[in-house]
Formats: sequence, structure tokens, C-alpha cells
Amino acid sequence: MPKLLRFVSLDQAAPEKRPAAERRQDLREIYREFKASHAAAQASRCSQCGIPYCQVHCPLGNNIPDWLMLTAESRIEEAYELAAATNNFPEICGRICPQDRLCEGNCVLEKDFSAVTIGAVEKYLTETAFAAGWIKPPRPLRELDRSIGIIGAGPAGLAAGEQLRRKGYRVAIYDRYDRVGGLLIYGIPNFKLEKEVVARRQALLEAAGIVFHLKTEIGRDLSLAELRRRHDAVLVATGVYQPRAMDCPGIALANVVPALDYLIASNRKGLGDAVPAFESGALDASGKHVVVIGGGDTAMDCVRTAVRQGAASVRCLYRRDRQNMPGSQREVRHAEEEGVEFVWLAAPEALLGNGIVAGVRAQRMHLGLPDSGGRQVPQPIAGSGFDLPADLVITALGFDPEDLPRLFDAAELLTTKNGTIKVNPQSLMTSLDGVFAAGDIVRGASLVVWAIRDGRDAAEAIHRYLEQKAVAGAAPAIAAE
Ligand code: FAD
Ligand code: SF4
Ligand code: SF4
Repeated sequence: MPKLLRFVSLDQAAPEKRPAAERRQDLREIYREFKASHAAAQASRCSQCGIPYCQVHCPLGNNIPDWLMLTAESRIEEAYELAAATNNFPEICGRICPQDRLCEGNCVLEKDFSAVTIGAVEKYLTETAFAAGWIKPPRPLRELDRSIGIIGAGPAGLAAGEQLRRKGYRVAIYDRYDRVGGLLIYGIPNFKLEKEVVARRQALLEAAGIVFHLKTEIGRDLSLAELRRRHDAVLVATGVYQPRAMDCPGIALANVVPALDYLIASNRKGLGDAVPAFESGALDASGKHVVVIGGGDTAMDCVRTAVRQGAASVRCLYRRDRQNMPGSQREVRHAEEEGVEFVWLAAPEALLGNGIVAGVRAQRMHLGLPDSGGRQVPQPIAGSGFDLPADLVITALGFDPEDLPRLFDAAELLTTKNGTIKVNPQSLMTSLDGVFAAGDIVRGASLVVWAIRDGRDAAEAIHRYLEQKAVAGAAPAIAAE
């Protein structure tokens, strides 16, 4: 019998975290690897719940108790196979899922004993599988004479592409960027997800026969209509990139920048690209007093990047309190350890400066009555204004979708009132026949794990659609074995 339920005698222990002083000096990931014995021991803390809330709250429905049991028994290859059966990129989710809000936050042990370190075990299994050479490019059992065009090489497009390729479809993925990964490459910083981890997946997908057309923007270099002619089905997985505007005097001052511009510059620099806006200093926090406005994951990434660039001071201004922020509490702890100061219950009233930003005038807030969504609304406290020094202000207030019907010159592509693409909840098809959509462009700004889930669901939906079309006699779906 495997030794499980060891939560009674064994404390939770995450993989070792590098000291904050060391982390501040580089952009490498902050956790060291789990040792095999530690991973097995930590997995053995699981109590093998009859109703595993960890699994219920994992967007992929990962079979967590079973792969923890196999890990505890040191049956690592089988544990990995199980983890990979429901997740295209377990090593990525293990690193960057906000586990404290998902699987681990719902582990029954969390309240009295601290959760099983599910994410760290998931990462350990996949890294072990890569090192042992168990992970091979997906090989379809048969080739289908049908091709799918995917717009967007982020996690939704990549997961869908892999699932469709496994079924035998020819898959072409188009992206306006010069690299594969979407926000995994250009949004999420290295200290959460090293870029080699994404490039390793790209290599596997290419070896599987997926063709990437990079630096190809649909709507500019190629039309959606052309894509529909080329392919039997099209998947739109373009993410959301329109930064939410901040309405505040002084917003047009120099050195007030949107979060993604700042993060893309830093990520490109880390990848060795020439980035004139960084080299000129406009997007470099070095030596500056930095104020980041916002309380989500993007704001956390900005403050922690600024620390690593050698900022003189880094403050995060958020209008709600710590308990009511959208970002992960774990990320806040990392940021605090690294020297970030959080100014809770405070919002900007004006950005100060003469041509170039020199400070932020903020005012204190209190949380008033809940709105229709149940969230308490922040209200300004009269006469509570105070000034913070700032040579660089980064706005991180979230993202909205771009106007895709206009960009794609496809007025018939219906959107919701939020601008996300409308899909039929059963067929996952948009208002255009044979055009599907997945990821943030449907859901609004969300998480990588949801993008993977949506990509997998879209792949199934596309397969069903093409099979039904074949049965209806349009053309045989399978031409070549
Ligand atoms: P994206 O990853 O945005 O990919 C869309 C792709 O489509 C891009 O490559 C883009 O270039 C391409 N594209 C867009 N328009 C076109 C066009 N017209 N033609 C061709 N290509 C096009 N989630 C987490 O789970 N954990 C985190 O820690 C986390 N941190 C984040 C940090 C930041 C700074 C940001 C911005 C987001 C973070 N997220 C995090 C959210 C997560 O990155 C997204 O939810 C996820 O990447 C969405 O996947 P997607 O495939 O739908 O879109
Ligand atoms: Fe947890 Fe994310 Fe892994 Fe699911 S995919 S088990 S939520 S870390
Ligand atoms: Fe194990 Fe926690 Fe999941 Fe229960 S909720 S099966 S203890 S990981």
C-alpha cells in the first residue's frame, strides 16, 4: 500500500524559493527544482478525497488525486502520462496558474494543514518527463485531408492546434508576432516563466507538423476571407490587447506608459532583441521612482520587473484593499519580499509634471456598498490627497478586445457588448460558418489554464463540425490514411 494521508505528520513544503536579494538581481524563475524525494513526500500528503475539490476547481479537471498517488509511489512516468492526458502544457500551468485561487486554494487540507503543493508536483512531473525523453512530438494515427487555420499562437491557439494535429488534421497557425507563445512570451515575465519553456513546446509542435506563419497579421497581411478559402475551418484565438484607458489629468505626460508596452520591452530585451524605447530609457525603470496603478496580475508583473531593472523605488497603487484585489496573493507576497511597497485603498487623482511625469497625486478610498456584481465600490475620502514621487508611471487597469469585425473586415462577425466574440455555447462556432473562437477573445482577459481548456474544447468542436459536414455529404472528411 502506498503511504498516503501523510498530511498529519508531514508539513507542506514548496520547492525552495531563491532569496529575495538574489531574485532582485536577475530575471530567472524564483523557485528551484523539487528533488524527487521531496516531490514524492509532498504528494503523499494527499488524503485522496472521495470528492476531490482540487480537481473540481482545476479548469482542466486534472485527475490530481491519481497523479499524486502515482508520484507518492514513485511511478513518475505513469503520473506524467495522467497529468498530460488533460493538459497540453502541465509544466506551464504548474509554474503560473494562480493555484491559491484554483486547485490548491480548494484542497481540503488548506484550512487546517496547508494544501498539497499540486502545482509544484505538476511542474516536477513534466520537467522529469522532458529530462527523461518521455515527451515526444504528437504523432497522429492517420492523416486527414482537412486543414485548419488558427489565428493566434497563444496558449488557446497552441492547445487547439496540438489537439487537432493529434487527430490528423493539417494545422497552420498565424501570428502577428515574430515568436510563438502570445502572452506566454511577451506578457508574462521570465521570473514566472522562462522563455525556453515555451520554445521547447514550439519545437515539439513544429516536429509534429504544425506550420507557423509568424509576422502575419490577419486583417493586414492576410484577410479572414482568404483564410476561410484556404482552410476547412478557422479558429480565432487572438487574445485581448486593448489597454483600458485611465481618465486622469496628466495622463498624456511623457513616461506614463501602458503595462503591456513596458512588459513587452522588458521581455524583448531579455530575449536579446534591440528595443529602442528601452535603450532610450523611456521603458527602463532603472534608477527611477516607479508607480504602478492597478491590482491585477499584470500590475504584479510590472512592479516585480521594475525591481529587477534597478528602480529607485517601486510602489503599487490600488483602489481596493489587499483582500479585494484581483491579483494572486502569492504574487503580492513575492513582490513584498522583493521590496515593493503597496499603497492600498488609494487611487490617482492627477499625474503631476511639466511635460514629463514627476509625481502622482493620490487620494485615499474606502469601500462603499456592493455593486450589482457584489463587489464593494471604492469611494474617495474627501481631503485625503497625498503626493508620491514618480519618474515612471505604469498603468495596468486591464485589457479589452480590439474591434475584430473592423480589423477583419467582417461586419457579420458578431460580438458581445464587451467586444468579445460571440460563440454558440454548444457548437463554439461564431456567427460565421466554420469560424470558431477560443481563449481571452471569447472569455475576456483570463488565465492561461482557461485558454488551454478553451483551445481543447474548440478543437473538439471543430472536429465534430467537420465530421458532421462529411456525413451530410459535403465531401469525405478522410481522404488519406
Ligand atoms: P494570447 O496569449 O494573448 O495570444 C493571442 C495571440 O494572438 C498573440 O500571439 C497575438 O500576437 C495573436 N494575434 C492577435 N491578433 C492577431 C491578428 N490579427 N493576426 C495574427 N495574430 C494575432 N495567466 C495566468 O494563468 N497566470 C499568470 O501568471 C498570468 N500572468 C499574466 C501577466 C500578464 C502581463 C498578462 C497580460 C496576462 C497574464 N495572464 C496570466 C493571462 C494569460 O496570459 C492569458 O489569459 C492567456 O495568454 C490568453 O491566451 P490566448 O491564447 O487567448 O491569448
Ligand atoms: Fe492546478 Fe492549474 Fe495544474 Fe489545474 S492546471 S492542477 S489549476 S496548477
Ligand atoms: Fe488530495 Fe487536497 Fe485534492 Fe483532497 S483536495 S484529493 S487532499 S489534493
